[in-house]
Amino acid sequence: MASDPVKITETLVKCASVTPTEGGALVYLAELLGAAGFECTRVDRGETSNLYARWGAKGHARSFGFNGHTDVVPVGDEDAWTHPPFSANIVDGWLYGRGSTDMKSGVAAFAAAAIDFVTDTSPDGAVILAITGDEEGVAIDGTVALLDWMDNQNEAMTACLVGEPTCPDTMGEMMKIGRRGSMTAYFTVHGIQGHSAYPHRALNPLPPMARLMDRLASHTLDTGTDHFDASTLAVTTIDTGNPANNVIPAACKATVNIRFNDAHTSTDLIAWLQSQVDETTTADGVKIEMKTQVSGESFLTPPGELSALISRSVKDVTGVEPVPSTTGGTSDARFVKNHCPVVEFGLVGKTMHQVDERVEVAHIEQLKEIYSKILAGYFA
Ligand SMILES: [Zn+2]
Repeated sequence: MASDPVKITETLVKCASVTPTEGGALVYLAELLGAAGFECTRVDRGETSNLYARWGAKGHARSFGFNGHTDVVPVGDEDAWTHPPFSANIVDGWLYGRGSTDMKSGVAAFAAAAIDFVTDTSPDGAVILAITGDEEGVAIDGTVALLDWMDNQNEAMTACLVGEPTCPDTMGEMMKIGRRGSMTAYFTVHGIQGHSAYPHRALNPLPPMARLMDRLASHTLDTGTDHFDASTLAVTTIDTGNPANNVIPAACKATVNIRFNDAHTSTDLIAWLQSQVDETTTADGVKIEMKTQVSGESFLTPPGELSALISRSVKDVTGVEPVPSTTGGTSDARFVKNHCPVVEFGLVGKTMHQVDERVEVAHIEQLKEIYSKILAGYFA
């Protein structure tokens, strides 16, 4: 009997797996996959639970992997939900619940497709599911832990599909072949506090900070590359927290977030930021501290066999040809790309992280069909 991705989604949504709580989701998947002949290993690290499931021989030259997460973001105001966030109620063809689109239905669809595929065809190769319980949190012990463990165990995927929602409005319209990098810079300008009536006795950090932020925000990082939009830099806060109108503050802080394409690396950007800081220091005589935090480098799986296979499969089922895109925020594909070629394809993501998050039941079934075709095509 064919596996029902809607039933699997319902069961998963009923597990209250807000990061980093496992909530029974991975235990259930391990049972389900184990019963179908997958070798299941819990790869827990720190507070995070992860599941690695493999059908077929370890290290096979054709090892297709799916990656996804069962953790969900907090529900927010529970009273604002039309249906309780862990009810998985189905009304008028929509399944409601936190994680219903992001991304328990994605996990359910690839689990169902994988189970049916290995059961029906016994492929010459391996099918791998690497599922984490921490994608929405700090993601240090999630997919990274799974990949570390795989390296140690000589477990490998030769291609990987991340099942995150990728379609903005219409099922099938977009896949992600790369992502922009993301980094944040924190600045503190140090001046000398003083009376605003005697500014010559103080060193006001605010004008230099304003000039520095203007200098950064007005700079064109690039105008886009073959597969990426232009990189962006956003000043997200400038703070002094000064309640007095007659005091020049001693210091001012600001934060800048950069989303960058493959024309840059974080190392180049940090060097550029430092040069801007140095010029401001020289011009204004203030001391400026800068700290940076890199969330991920940009990456690209250039259009090729994997993206062509996914594109074909999506078009067969939905009639829509997915646009290869590199837009949006970060995902665990930024870790998987160090391991093997990776492409992301999943549902319409409109209600992700919202109150009344919901998924069209028909889309869950379509997604299973698409994933089934991808498996069939990969092992053909
Ligand atoms: Zn997600």
